[in-house]
Amino acid sequence: MNEMEIGVLIEKRGKINMWSGISQKARGKLVNIALNQGFCKGCEICIEICPNKCLEMKGSYPIVKDINLCSKCMLCELECPDFAIAIE
Ligand code: SF4
Ligand code: SF4
Repeated sequence: MNEMEIGVLIEKRGKINMWSGISQKARGKLVNIALNQGFCKGCEICIEICPNKCLEMKGSYPIVKDINLCSKCMLCELECPDFAIAIE
């Protein structure tokens, strides 16, 4: 099982209100992007501001399109007006 599969598995195991991804192997670091859907209003600011285009909309909420693209810059967390994203 590769790291992306482990990330998906974590998501399926019940972090219903959160994205979860583990990867960054190529860059030698780990990142977890968590979304609290209870706070998210689907404004898409996080998607527009991400410099690496990691995120995309799925229905009413953003999802991680490719965790490997994330540079852990924190912009999505900092600019979300509803404090719905946490980069860990
Ligand atoms: S910026 Fe925040 S509220 Fe807007 S879509 Fe992204 S997570 Fe949701
Ligand atoms: S931390 Fe930066 S690179 Fe990663 S998803 Fe958020 S805005 Fe994109």
